[in-house]
Amino acid sequence: MTFRTRFAPSPTGPLHLGHAYSAILAHDMAVAAGGDFLLRMEDTDMQRSKPEWEALILEDLAWLGLAWKGPVLRQSDRLESYEPALDDLRRMGLLYPCSCSRKDIRAAAAAPQEGAMPDVYPGTCKHRDMASWRPGDALRLHMDRALTVFGDDLPGFSETGTKHAGYHRVSADHALSRIGDVVLFRKDDGIIAYFLASALDDVAQDISHVVRGEDLFDFTPIQVLLLSLLGLPVPAYHHHGLIRDGNGRRLAKRDDARAISLFRADGKTPQDIRSMIGL
Ligand code: GLU
Repeated sequence: MTFRTRFAPSPTGPLHLGHAYSAILAHDMAVAAGGDFLLRMEDTDMQRSKPEWEALILEDLAWLGLAWKGPVLRQSDRLESYEPALDDLRRMGLLYPCSCSRKDIRAAAAAPQEGAMPDVYPGTCKHRDMASWRPGDALRLHMDRALTVFGDDLPGFSETGTKHAGYHRVSADHALSRIGDVVLFRKDDGIIAYFLASALDDVAQDISHVVRGEDLFDFTPIQVLLLSLLGLPVPAYHHHGLIRDGNGRRLAKRDDARAISLFRADGKTPQDIRSMIGL
């Protein structure tokens, strides 16, 4: 199998050392395997994603010497392509409409900050069926029902990152108590859950190995469940350790002091960046 991986930043801030680590590692793994390295902009958070951040990320990646194969895939161009998957889940009776607060739903669908999982939904709208859908409602996955599709044979994924290396089967307990009835979509404002769009795009880009930070490890089961429910192939995963600041905190995009563009302006070279992150 050809090794195909990708770097999938959300253009909501500058590229920092942590992202550079992820991008360089994925790129170098692809080169070492004689495979492909692709690029995808996860820009479904319309409020926070900005073309200027995307332009800066592209500039930083090129400066780092990373060449990606083919055009950059942009999730905002693909919103319609996610709908057939939602239709399938609806036909399987696995979705229900939810009219809970707009702010909560936006937060639940966004890419994680600091790897925090959204709160498990208490199930306020769980009694509703799709016939009661009204404009403005979001769609949630009925997790209990989704799990019953697999009986005792829950799907799994193989992981090659050192911390969790091995084969991991989705646990019903984790799915119910840590993930719950996640928001997948809201039509009127085009909100699509980051983890659904991202998993579908991995399939669309024919990704064989997802290389990303270990803060996303806990999200992998929901992606594996969704792909398996849809009968789509599950890639292998490689969750790498995180680059932390002097206080041991994970670097986030808002830590602008670690922005690659600032190191660049400071006269550092791509090799300096590789040494700083131990690559
Ligand atoms: N877009 C996500 C982020 O910026 C990464 C998602 C992934 O690599 O699967 O953190």
